[in-house]
Amino acid sequence: MIHVEGLTKYYGDICAVDHIDLDIRRGEIVGLLGPNGAGKTTTLRMLTGYFTPSAGQITIKDVAMDDNPLAIKHLIGYLPESAPLYQSMLVYDYLDHVARIRGLKGDERPKRLQELADLCGLRGIMHKPIATLSKGLKQRVGLAHAMMSDPEILILDEPTSGLDPNQIVEIREIIRHIGTEKTVILSTHILSEAEATCGRIVIINKGRIIVDGTTQALTAGREQAGRIHIGLMGTDAQNARPLLGGVTGVREVDAAGESDGIARLTVTCQPGTDARADLYAAIKSTDWILVEMTRETKTLETLFGELTREF
Ligand code: ATP
Repeated sequence: MIHVEGLTKYYGDICAVDHIDLDIRRGEIVGLLGPNGAGKTTTLRMLTGYFTPSAGQITIKDVAMDDNPLAIKHLIGYLPESAPLYQSMLVYDYLDHVARIRGLKGDERPKRLQELADLCGLRGIMHKPIATLSKGLKQRVGLAHAMMSDPEILILDEPTSGLDPNQIVEIREIIRHIGTEKTVILSTHILSEAEATCGRIVIINKGRIIVDGTTQALTAGREQAGRIHIGLMGTDAQNARPLLGGVTGVREVDAAGESDGIARLTVTCQPGTDARADLYAAIKSTDWILVEMTRETKTLETLFGELTREF
């Protein structure tokens, strides 16, 4: 669907995007993730045809951006980070105005506005002035704007930036729903945001791609910290240590003490090993009661920090 090769952008001497290669299939929801200044907005703006690359090629549905930028623009709906909305207009009038600009005629316009009101959750606010809406609702109006021409590709720059937690959940749900039919690329600097919405995560730092993979693979990598927290009843931590220490794949056992009648231990596994099944089997052979077993994961932010520091 989208093929990007050697995409590069210089602002004067600053290299904002540095030889990015990317292939995005139809129906993917891709999260473009990176710290501030990583080059996300610049990349998205080149994909929309808003910025001309300094070098490289963008091909969408086998059409090269250089050959037919207009045809490509018709395939894309774009929601910039701060959606420019006419604050004094009513939502309906604003979207009707956008529909006219997009060439929708006669009955097509109210029909499309109705569809977008349903899709983006705008039903109760169509006749309110934009200026009176919360940031979350304004963002939904921006989404409806981007979706007006029913584009095949939706590009969203930090769509949840500045929203409160409830609004974030609502926007995520709308994006996931849209993503069942469209190809979506969204940027964010919050890893959990990409994880919640996207099937694939592309991490960029200093203009380069440093990770490109499924969200599942990234999450699995996060679990390789190799520490397991265990809570037991019917024994004390010191007593349980030797048994757990003898389990295959266990490197070390720390007795973390007792609380609320539960003996707590932390088991460190050999690198690349998950000893949970064997630990469970060992505990099952005793008369202790296993009340907790949790595999420690690196926090998303830690992982993100490690990845962006390394490169
Ligand atoms: P943010 O999350 O802060 O929006 P970003 O990942 O979207 O960051 P970009 O906005 O693409 O990053 O910026 C990438 C680099 O290019 C940064 O170093 C930025 O300062 C620089 N830059 C961006 N726009 C311009 C511009 N118009 N002129 C000069 N430098 C720019």
